[in-house]
Amino acid sequence: MSTKFATVYCDDCKHEFSMDSVDIQETTMNLGGQALTLVYFTCPKCNKIYRITLKDERYEELKEDLERTKTRIRKNRGSRNDEFARTLNLMVTKKHERMRNHLAKLNDKFPGTFTFVASENNHEDKIITYLP
Ligand SMILES: [Zn+2]
Repeated sequence: MSTKFATVYCDDCKHEFSMDSVDIQETTMNLGGQALTLVYFTCPKCNKIYRITLKDERYEELKEDLERTKTRIRKNRGSRNDEFARTLNLMVTKKHERMRNHLAKLNDKFPGTFTFVASENNHEDKIITYLP
């Protein structure tokens, strides 16, 4: 089994790196009065933040809901109830779609960029800020 990782070409420092050489990180932040989680990775050379997605609590709910339906599909397997299987499959497709639409809408709301700012007391921990 071979996994092919995407190559990222940093448009800030022109550094080229493979997705498997970076860590996917998450940080929670408050944007527009909403508690959101930013999923991101950074350029290993210049530390530019690349957003993978923004997610919120509603997204987690939708994801859980989807997982529950997937569990029902696994349980239904072998029961030969084809009609029910079709219904469940359709549900998964719809729930997946709903989840994707929700994420797209949420990310569209915040089209700006994320960047690190030095913390006031110059601590190791970096603070991420949103630039609209
Ligand atoms: Zn870079």
